Order: sequence, then C-alpha cells, then structure tokens
Amino acid sequence: MKSTTAFSGIDLSQLQTRMLINGELRNASSGSTFTLHDPATGQEIARVPQATNADVDAAVQAARTALQNVSWREMLPAARERLLQKLADLLERHADELAKLETLNQGMLLGVAQAVDVGASVQWLRYMAGWATKIHGDSIDISFPMPPGTKYQAIVRRQPVGVVGAIVPWNFPLLMAIWKIAPALACGCTVVLKPASDTPLTALRFAELALEAGFPPGVLNVIVGSGSTAGAALVQHPDVNKITLTGSTEVGVWIGQQCANTVKRVALELGGKSPVIVLDDCDPAVAAAGASAAIFFNQGQVCTAGSRLYVQKKQFERVVESVADTARNAVLGSGFDPATQIGPLVSQRQRENVLRFIDTGVKEGAQLVAGGTAADRDGYFVQPTVFANTTGRPLTLTREEVFGPVLIAQPYDDLEEVVREANNTVYGLAASVWTSNISKALRVAERLDAGTVWINSHNVVDPNMPFGGFKQSGIGREHGRSAIEAYTECKSICIAY
Ligand code: NAP
Ligand code: MG
Repeated sequence: MKSTTAFSGIDLSQLQTRMLINGELRNASSGSTFTLHDPATGQEIARVPQATNADVDAAVQAARTALQNVSWREMLPAARERLLQKLADLLERHADELAKLETLNQGMLLGVAQAVDVGASVQWLRYMAGWATKIHGDSIDISFPMPPGTKYQAIVRRQPVGVVGAIVPWNFPLLMAIWKIAPALACGCTVVLKPASDTPLTALRFAELALEAGFPPGVLNVIVGSGSTAGAALVQHPDVNKITLTGSTEVGVWIGQQCANTVKRVALELGGKSPVIVLDDCDPAVAAAGASAAIFFNQGQVCTAGSRLYVQKKQFERVVESVADTARNAVLGSGFDPATQIGPLVSQRQRENVLRFIDTGVKEGAQLVAGGTAADRDGYFVQPTVFANTTGRPLTLTREEVFGPVLIAQPYDDLEEVVREANNTVYGLAASVWTSNISKALRVAERLDAGTVWINSHNVVDPNMPFGGFKQSGIGREHGRSAIEAYTECKSICIAY
C-alpha cells in the first residue's frame, strides 16, 4: 500500500514550517524543533519550530506595536473587510492544498477537511469580514443633575480589545484558529495564534497566505510551541489583553486562574459530554443514524460529540444494536482513501488515552457491544466502540470526556429521568433531542444545561449562531454578534454641553 504521504501528493520538503512573527517567517530563535507524524502511518512528516519565551515575547511585541500602528489603527472598517475577503479568496484558491495538509497532519477524512475544516474557514472569514463595517455602539441620554442646567450626552463606542492570544486544539486545527482570528481581526485587534503542537501545519501555511493578503506586519503572528512553555508564556504575558482558548477543561481552568492575576480578558471553549436524547416516538433508524454520526464524526474528536446516548426503554435495544452495527461495519483507513469512514486518531498519545477509557469501561462493568480495541494496523486507529449501561450505575464513561469514537448508551423511562440524567454532568456544551413531537422537543430543550441544543440534528454550527458552553464547558460565546462583543471593549464618552 502507498504511504499516506504519497497519496497526498504533498512534497514534504516544500512544507511551510516557519513561524510568522512581525511579518517575517522565522525559525525558533533557539533553533529547536519537534517532529510531526502522519497519524495514518506513524511516519515522520515534518519538523517544526519550538518557540522559546523570547519568540513569544517577540510575537506579542509585534502585535502590540501593530495595534498602535496607524496602518492598522486607522484602517477604515471597509478596508479591514476587504483584507479579510482577500484572505478568504486566498484560502479558497488554496483549499485543496490546505485540506490535504490537514488530512496529512491531523488524520481527518479528506472530505471533512475540504467541507468543514477549510470550507467552513472560508465561510467564517467571509461572514466576519462583513461584521467589520457593522460594528456600532450607542448614544445615551444622561440624568446627571449638576451643575444645574448642564446637559450630558454619552457616546458608547466599541473598540478593539487589543492584543489577543489565541490558543487552539488539534481536532479541527484550521477552523478552530479561524473562529478566533476572523472576528478578532474584523474588530481591529491584533493576534498571536498558538496552534496545538501536534497540528500546526495548516496554521503555518495560513500565516503565509495572510502575508500575501497584505495584513500589516504584526497584525497576525503565528507561533508554534508546547502549551506548557510557549502557551503558558503567552497566557502570562503582560502585553496580551485577552486570551481565547479552545481546549480541555483542565487547561482552561489553569488559564482562567492565570488571567485572573491581571484581570486579563478570557474566553474559554472547553470540553463536553454531550447527550443525544431519543424520545419514544422517534423512528429507530433515524435515531441510530443520527446517534452514529453524532459520536463517530471526526473519530469522536469533536467537543460537541454525542458521547452519551439516552434511548427510551422500549426502543433501547433496537437503536443501540443499529449504532453498534454501524460501528462494526465501519471502514477504517487513511483519510485520503475515499472508502474510509473512520480515520486515525490524531496521535499515539490520544490513541492510548482512548484505549485507557475503553479499559476502564470494561473494568467498571459497562457492557461492550461493539469495538473496544485498537485496529491491527500501523497508525493511531481505534475501533469505533459502543458500550451499554443498562443498570444506570455511575461510570467514568458517563462522566469524563473521551474525545474519541466511544459511545455509552443508557435506557430511560420518562422525560423527567432523562433530563435529570442528561444534566448530571459538569459539562454543558451541547445536546440533541430526536423526536417528531416539537412540543416535547422544546420542553426538553428548555431544561437542558447546554450552550447549544439541536433538535433532530447534531454538530450543526454556523457563523451567525452563538456557540459556547454552560458550566465547565466554558465561558463566553463565539460567532455572530457575540464574537464581536467578545473582541471589543465598551467605552463610554460622556459629553457635557
Ligand atoms: P488541550 O490539551 O487543552 O490543548 C489545547 C491547546 O492549549 C493546545 O494548543 C495546547 O498546546 C495548549 N495548552 C496546553 N497547556 C497549556 C498551558 N498550560 N498554557 C497555555 N496553553 C496550553 O486540548 P487538546 O487535547 O488539544 O484538545 C482537546 C480538547 O479541546 C477537548 O477537551 C475538547 O473538548 C476541547 N475542544 C473544545 C471545543 C469547543 O469549542 N468547546 C472545540 C474543540 C475542542 P499543546 O498542543 O502544545 O499541548
Ligand atoms: Mg492536550
């Protein structure tokens, strides 16, 4: 079989692996690098820089200077819009190359890379470009009585929050970065992006395209380095005004604590343990197809993955057996092979994490219905796995985020019980409800502790629809007007006349 690298047609010697700092592509000042692997084969694909604290500082200083530079500070909103549109054009022109790069580096199916990771990135850039010219404040009448006879009028402006440190995970590397970069730039902020160590290649190529688009130097910087060093240095840097993280709750808690020290603004999109709730009237075939897609999409490496399935008792076996069939028959392989349905996990480490969760499920007495092992091949594959918990006892799998293709299914009797079970988690990112009874659907949706509730669908996101978590799934909302509010500060200018 041809290696994934050969499949991709990517010339590894031509990869853009340098960081973008102050409009220049650079290696780490220390010269140190780390190695990336193709998740489908385990083969080495590239060496990328490992940013030092000095590199982080240079990137932040460049972003700070760019913020004050007239070429950015005074740029008309319409010109910012045009720049973002130009960047979207460049992404679109290089979509095929970027999608292949993502499949090579992350392992995702090429179709998913094309439609979601790159396709949606273009869509988000265009949508947020439109916001650049639509940011507005308010004018307020004031009741302050002194000195007598004086009138006051306040103008409320929305101004860029400043230098934004954006830290993103490896599940949809380019899209997660664009979710932050596009609104931040639309608002006139400057950005230092740190992609996940395992998946920096599309961000690095994107950085080169941003240079080509003509953003002033320092407006967008991309550094690569480990979370515990470069990431932490960015979080603790006094010249960063806001940190926006998409990542695990554990890292989010630490970042939140650090930001509190200097009251740095912080937005956190964190983990999830999203329930898929099938009501008793739902066609079992529709429910099973929906539940399978909700958990197995992108190998379950989705923050909103439908990792807990609740089915009313009388349909439980039928739905779970059908999801298990999908799991058993799934074709595993390279994301470049059009026949593949389940690709590899992102890394050896992630495969081990997922296998450990599967072991724990078995040890705690969950019933293994499908999958449960690594695949017998090179690369970081895990069989799509389905567990049933018919006793309803508390399990690690119902509580902790796996971030892999592992489902735990549980039967329920009535709506009160399923709402209680669905909310019995520290997370609150998303949920879905499957039924043709819209009245029940809305009543359940109202009571779920989740930032997004889908009805008869799962994992649908849109640049115009707020997205984020309740409880320990995060703080703040991305997309739409919420994103514009997130990257601006409100300033009241009060005029006496
Ligand atoms: P992670 O370990 O939290 O890492 C996320 C990012 O934070 C990476 O760039 C990481 O760098 C960096 N990081 C780690 N420690 C840091 C520190 N001390 N200071 C600053 N940065 C640090 O998460 P992951 O394993 O990459 O991704 C999976 C998680 O992301 C899951 O929990 C998933 O639910 C969540 N997620 C949430 C959403 C959402 O929108 N809510 C979307 C996607 C994923 P390194 O790569 O170098 O470790
Ligand atoms: Mg991690």
